[in-house]
Parts: sequence; C-alpha cells; structure tokens
Amino acid sequence: MLFKKIRSVVLYSLLFIMSTHSIRADFSLEALIKDHPILSALTGIVALNFAWNAVSGIIEWSQQVKPREDLKNKKLPIVYSSGYNMYFLGIEKILHSFDAQKYRRVHDHLIAKLGIPHSSFYEPKEISIDDLKIVHDADYIEALENTDSARLTASIAEVPIGFLPNFVIRNRILKPMKLATGGTVLGAQLAMGYGEHQWKEEDMKWAINIGGGYHHAKGKGHFFDYGKYKYDQDEGHGFCIYGDIQLAIEKLWKKNPNLKVMIVDLDAHQGNGHEAYFATETAKLNGQHRVVIFDMYNEQNWYPPEKLRTDAHIQYKFGLAWGTKDAQYLKILTDNLPRAIEEFNPDFILYNAGTDIFEHDPLGKLKISHKGIIQRDQFVFEQAQKYKKPILMVTSGGYTQQSAVIIGESIENLLKKVIKVIN
Ligand SMILES: [Zn+2]
Repeated sequence: MLFKKIRSVVLYSLLFIMSTHSIRADFSLEALIKDHPILSALTGIVALNFAWNAVSGIIEWSQQVKPREDLKNKKLPIVYSSGYNMYFLGIEKILHSFDAQKYRRVHDHLIAKLGIPHSSFYEPKEISIDDLKIVHDADYIEALENTDSARLTASIAEVPIGFLPNFVIRNRILKPMKLATGGTVLGAQLAMGYGEHQWKEEDMKWAINIGGGYHHAKGKGHFFDYGKYKYDQDEGHGFCIYGDIQLAIEKLWKKNPNLKVMIVDLDAHQGNGHEAYFATETAKLNGQHRVVIFDMYNEQNWYPPEKLRTDAHIQYKFGLAWGTKDAQYLKILTDNLPRAIEEFNPDFILYNAGTDIFEHDPLGKLKISHKGIIQRDQFVFEQAQKYKKPILMVTSGGYTQQSAVIIGESIENLLKKVIKVIN
C-alpha cells in the first residue's frame, strides 16, 4: 500500500519535471537523468515493480481453476450481483473504512479457486419499495427515494456527504444496498425451499448471500422509552440503511407465520437494529416467541452507542471483552449454540457472519484470527447440519483488505468440508 503511494508520488513528480523540461529547446533525456539521479533510480524501481506486478498477475491467472464442466448447468444457492459493489469515484475509501469491492473479491475468489462458473450464482433483484415498506416507515423510504437521500444517508453513514446530489447517493449507495437486501430475501427463500432452488430430501438446506447483514437498521413502529434514552423513529445507523434481516424474516412469515427463526449474530457489534425490531409483539405468535436472537458481540465497543443498545431483548446474549481471542471466543460459541438450538428448536437459522471480529479489524476490536473465523463459520454450519435446520449466511461487517479473502476461504471451506458440494 505504502509502496503504491510512493510510486504515484514518483510518477507524478517525474511527469511534472518532464513536462517542465520538455518545453525547453535544449531538452535532452540524458541531461534530465544526469540532473536528477535519485529520481532516475526511483524510476527504475517503479519500472521493476510494474514488471513484477505483471509477472505475478500472469502467475495468478495461470493458477486459476478453469470453470468446472459439472457445475455449468448447476445452480449453487450463493446469491451475488456485481451491483453490490460501490463505485464512488474513490470517495468511498474516505467515506468509511470499508472495502467497497469486498463482495466482488469474494465472488472472484470462488470462481478462481473453485472453478464455480458465474452462471452457478443466483442473481438477486433490487428490493421493491413496497417490500421495504413492510419493515420501514413509508416516510423514511420516501425521504430516501425523493429529496432527502443525501442528507439522510449522510446522517446514517455518519460522514459528510450531504452536499452530494441526491441522484448520486441513490445510484451509488442506496441501489447497491437495495440489491443486497433483495439478496438476503432471496437467500432466505432459497434455503427454505420456497424459491426456485431444487432440494432433495437428504440435502443440507443452505444459502449464502455475499452481502447484506445490515443489522443496525431498525424497522418501523417500535418506540422504546428506557427513561434516560428514547429509541425512536431514527431508522438507519452505522451505514445500515435497510433492515434486510428483518425483511427476509417477515417475507418468510408471509408464507408460514408459524415459522420459528433463530438469528445467530456473530458480527463484532451488537445487532441493535433487528434486536429492537423483534423486541415487540412482532416476534411473537399466540404469546410464543417465533424469533430468538443469539448474539455474541464486543460489549466494550463504542458502537452501538449506549443510547441505541437493546441488550434487554436478546435471548442468548454473550457480551465479549475488548481483545477476546480465538480459544475463549470459540469456547463460548461451542458451549452455547447447540444448547440454544436444542431449547428453541428453530425452523430456520439466519446467520449474520460479520468478519469484523478479525484481529486487525479497525472497528470490531476483537482478536480473532483468520483461522478462528473459518472455524467459527464451520461450527455454525455443522450445527445447522446436525440439527437439520435450513441456514442462510449473510456477510455483514468486515473492514480490512483481508476481509474478502477470509470470507472467500471460509465459504470455500464450508462448500468442501461441511456441505460437500465441491470436492
Ligand atoms: Zn460490525
């Protein structure tokens, strides 16, 4: 990264010096090199670096697995759209510590390392406004669609982008999030066998959305008065605009209102959005809970702020200390998840698999290794398999350059070791 920055500075300096010198009548390249020996040496290093990048690109390309013939006409319930990625003229890099190309890199990893053809993925549709209004106030959705996009999105993202034209915000931020929300809804339908995916009786029923997991967005109609704090109509937070998890569950309930759902939220942050939404009667049918939440999160993290926390409404709550490491983390998970599944006996598991628990993540502030995250995902999928529960995984937070590689390798591990659809 640092080298790339140095390279750009050298290149721009070189261009500047060349352009100022070349207008002179006595310009000669030889004289230029003589006058600026350090710059010439640096130029040589930059040229070598370019050559090295080209060679390593060719090596990487030659190591790619060719698309597999046996998968050519086969769909895998992995949901992805190239529209998930945010192209924002590079502004996204300063907006949020977020790899805006994370989703594409996961998709590319699965193609390059496993030979899954692009046609094997399911492509979601952008979620409709009518569907969004199932969980969100019409005023909120209309403000985002019409005149207030930039101001509202800026307040949710907590970054100063309110000056940008509304149409830019709608196309570059809201559209990718609507597609990913459509992806979570589609994934839940596929895993449950309500979608077009064909399951055999003996199959493990699963789906993965390479996106979504906006667990800080809160659906409508739930006002909490905690005395000191009032949790009101403010619906989006922490760069989460649409409550995709809440909506996916509501859409499943439209098919079967008795369906019991367990949200397993292992993102580093508390899933305060769906926790607030399901804290009310919505979560119950005939007085019985039809959704319960299993949430392990860094409770010493500054986000969500105290006034937005909803701890009282998490049935299986495991607050972790700043810097928790693999052994302790995996022990809490393995000791408690099977017990929770046995007690509640859900019909469906929605797994929010944030990778911001990673040791180098700037926002999660836990210390879980790359290997530890792969073990975590494997354990959750093994439980779904053991107890025969359909499962949907969404990718949620993860704010390092390694996040995409970790997600890619973890999905690779799940497909090979647990689901065994790829050998
Ligand atoms: Zn998070």
